[in-house]
Amino acid sequence: MLNEKLLKVQNLEIESIRLGTKINDLEKEKRELLSKLAEVERKIESAADKLREKEKELSELKNFIEYKKLRIEELEKQKESAKSREEFKKVLRAIAKNEDEVIKAKQKLTMVEAEVEALKDAYRKVKEQFSPEIQKLKEEIEEISSEVEILKRKKEKLLKEIEDLKSSMEPSEIEKFEQLKSKFNGLVFSDISSGACEGCGMTYSPAEYRELIKNLTPGKSKCPYCGRFIYSKKLVKA
Ligand SMILES: [Zn+2]
Repeated sequence: MLNEKLLKVQNLEIESIRLGTKINDLEKEKRELLSKLAEVERKIESAADKLREKEKELSELKNFIEYKKLRIEELEKQKESAKSREEFKKVLRAIAKNEDEVIKAKQKLTMVEAEVEALKDAYRKVKEQFSPEIQKLKEEIEEISSEVEILKRKKEKLLKEIEDLKSSMEPSEIEKFEQLKSKFNGLVFSDISSGACEGCGMTYSPAEYRELIKNLTPGKSKCPYCGRFIYSKKLVKA
């Protein structure tokens, strides 16, 4: 039953399986690169988070000082219009308390400002350190993605070709082929042009090989060891 069309189908199917494996490998590689990228980006993000938190603390501290200053101005006015000595003393104590808070807050402000500067520096450094790696990872991912796209299109084309070939054949012929395929692990037609059976791997003796080639009838001759239909690539254009 060697039929050029079926041999073509077999070769196309093998090629499409090979492409599928390659696509899976590339997609796995891409997933690994993506998780590496996320990991590196997290390092930068974490430095940015720390900086943002510290900047928030700084701005809250500044707001607190501003608020206290307004409060003191207000108290100064109350001091001017105090109606009793008792009230005057009370306002003075409140002013002193607020001024004390401002002094403490300003001391803290200096410290927090220094911390913000240090975190800015750390953020800049971590970005500088990892930017080339991120760039490289992104490029690699991009490359793999476009390669996968190309392979997927190729595979689709192959599947279409297989479909077209099959639809031009007798269903019974295809059914027979499918049965043989599952019997022979997908390889029904075995090339022996290397002196060995491509299907079972058996190397023929020179005499045996000469005999097989001499009597080779495509579609009838079989490998004496595994029973696959044999052909020679050198004799048949596949
Ligand atoms: Zn064989």
